[in-house]
Amino acid sequence: MVYDFSSREREMGKVVLALTLNRKKMTERVVIARYDDARLRLEHNSGDVYYDETRPLGSLLIHFEGDAKREWNTHGMALRESYGKVFPFEAERWEMAAPVSKYLRRKYKSDEPSVMFAAIRTWEDYLNCYHMNHGADILTDRLNLLYRPFFLYADHRPWQEESAVALSRTIHDGESQVELWYPMKKWLFEVIVAVSSLLPVISYYLYKLEEWGFVFQECKVCGKYFAAKSRHFELCSDACRRVQAVEAKREFDERARARGDRLEQLDETAYNYWYTRLRKLRKGKNADSEKAAAIKSAFDAFRKEAVARKGAVKRGEMKLSEFSAWLALKNDEVDRLMVMGTAKLTGSEELSEAKRALLSLRNKSEKASGKLKTDTWQYRLTAGIVKASDVALSLIDGNAAAPFGRDTLDESFASLQDALRRAEAVIDKFAMGTSQHTLQKNRIAALKIALALIKEKRNNAK
Ligand SMILES: [Zn+2]
Repeated sequence: MVYDFSSREREMGKVVLALTLNRKKMTERVVIARYDDARLRLEHNSGDVYYDETRPLGSLLIHFEGDAKREWNTHGMALRESYGKVFPFEAERWEMAAPVSKYLRRKYKSDEPSVMFAAIRTWEDYLNCYHMNHGADILTDRLNLLYRPFFLYADHRPWQEESAVALSRTIHDGESQVELWYPMKKWLFEVIVAVSSLLPVISYYLYKLEEWGFVFQECKVCGKYFAAKSRHFELCSDACRRVQAVEAKREFDERARARGDRLEQLDETAYNYWYTRLRKLRKGKNADSEKAAAIKSAFDAFRKEAVARKGAVKRGEMKLSEFSAWLALKNDEVDRLMVMGTAKLTGSEELSEAKRALLSLRNKSEKASGKLKTDTWQYRLTAGIVKASDVALSLIDGNAAAPFGRDTLDESFASLQDALRRAEAVIDKFAMGTSQHTLQKNRIAALKIALALIKEKRNNAK
């Protein structure tokens, strides 16, 4: 049923706004109709109504009309003045009321119950008061009462503190007629019915929400207000929850991308760190192809492990900070390799040759020491070589964790250095190509490697 704003005749029955709240479903139902029809609608779902909608809890207050410019009052004044234009021509009265009727019809179409109710009540009172003594004054009083909340809520929503203060000042005017209905036994909800003012309805609404512990929240996504069970709820609807989820996903991806970029950047820096050093060994005045080959194989191993660790970071199995710390260790490693003697780095063939020569020296020395008295300097010399060879062999085997003390390393170094001196002293006594010469040559090479390893171990132990 649509209200007719061109009607010139009063109808029976007042138009009321009936409100009922459903705490469980978190909804409000507003019915605007003539008194008896409103009752019929709520009790038997019949009756002609102007409005009957069930909306999310809080909607009436959230979308409540605001009127800072007092447009409603201006139009109300025009209606009052039209009363004085009845004589001599009745037509003039309707002519004056016509723009107001148009304004009210436009307002009515907003489909907001607070606005629709005010529009209907305005026209109803206009038709009613005309027949009363002092009708113009009564009309003014009634409309002022009706429009007051629109001005109160021009800048603030009804639940906001600033409004509450204004509301508490006006609520006790005593002029606002209100009823509470409990229509039927099966009707579990009370209905508040407003006739002349919506202020008691607002007051009742706020009181109920407070009693239930509900609050008004501003949606984090769309910025709209909504009634919520607690401050914990930050999103107004499923639509906004979906938007939030998409946004959260986007932010997550963004962070993952940034983390991925950082990962590649760190890895590239370490790669370049190694590569620059490798290039120096391959080209330039300090080129050392043997060392370059050795570092290349360490580099390959580093790259293989770096790729594996990057994968672990991407899968979230390793923290980016751990990866970064590991790269720093690897940079230290290439620095160490760069200053290390070539012996340690050279191929396994050379190392196994050195091992063989050292083992031979060790066994010969052991055999010799067995024939010597333990208190002679010759015994101490040969026994020292046995012990030092064992240390060197252990280092060649890569047993870097072997717990050699500083003293052991120092003694071994001295013994092998002595052995090297003697081998260098005798090698020239043999002709090139003879087995004795080859033996001394291999021994010298092996001792040099052994000394380099012991020296390195000693430096690292510092
Ligand atoms: Zn929202």
